Amino acid sequence: MEIIVAKTAGFCYGVKRAVEGAQRDVEEKEKLYCLGELVHNKQVIEKLEQKGLRFIDNIEEANGITIIRAHGVPQQVYDKAKEKQIELIDYTCPNVLKIHRIVEEYSKDGYYICLCGSKKHPENIGTISYCSTESSIIENIEDVEDSIQKIKDLQMKKVLLTSQTTYSLEKFYQIEKELKGMLDNDVEFVVKNTICKATELRQKETEQIAKKVQCMIVIGGKNSSNTKKLYQIAEQNCNCSFYIEVAEELNLKDIAKFNKIGIVAGASTPKQNIEEVIAMLKNVEIRDEK
Ligand code: SF4
Repeated sequence: MEIIVAKTAGFCYGVKRAVEGAQRDVEEKEKLYCLGELVHNKQVIEKLEQKGLRFIDNIEEANGITIIRAHGVPQQVYDKAKEKQIELIDYTCPNVLKIHRIVEEYSKDGYYICLCGSKKHPENIGTISYCSTESSIIENIEDVEDSIQKIKDLQMKKVLLTSQTTYSLEKFYQIEKELKGMLDNDVEFVVKNTICKATELRQKETEQIAKKVQCMIVIGGKNSSNTKKLYQIAEQNCNCSFYIEVAEELNLKDIAKFNKIGIVAGASTPKQNIEEVIAMLKNVEIRDEK
């Protein structure tokens, strides 16, 4: 059995920085809070919780130093923390901070902001808080029409299209084309592709691997939006794909019939989870040879 492991599998720069930082902080600080899930990965969260990190859903619940996770928070959280005199350890990824600055700048300049991404994703909820003008989150191509209607109703003459860091590159280009085609000719249209490089490379590599293997294994949290996108790409390009969080979820009988298997993993998947899957597949191989 040949196993192809994606070079991009596992923690991205931003998640690595946040997880390693929190692991260090929890050892050094007495009472430490984290606002929301640090990363979309159950195993990582459980380990940090065991070491004493307290996860909260609202800054109002903080009663000590509080960690801000990689995909950032709304502006109001900083204001509230200041008011409550809560010290923050801010692990917002620089790529996310860059989007906050872009939408802040363009909306101050009178642009209507169109943000591609999931409506419920905390990164986008954070980003939208930096818009001082009207804005909309475009999840799918079907949402474009609603945004166009809003732009027309508000008589906006300047529009910025930007994106969640982990959005699908293919969908972003489709939405750009659709918006461009539907906007009036006198509307100034600016496009800022803010999909982060780590996400772009991971999606491209997933497609390349999926095209040359018989089976794809996608490892990552079930609530991780970037892992879900990798699974969609794997499914589109390979006849058989599995989406798992941990090695135990694999059914070895399903896997044993394949000669060439690809492994990819989301940006918040720990190395250990990937290594356990590889070890399990190697075990299938040995049993196969006997
Ligand atoms: S996926 Fe990209 S933007 Fe998000 S934390 Fe990782 S490096 Fe930063």
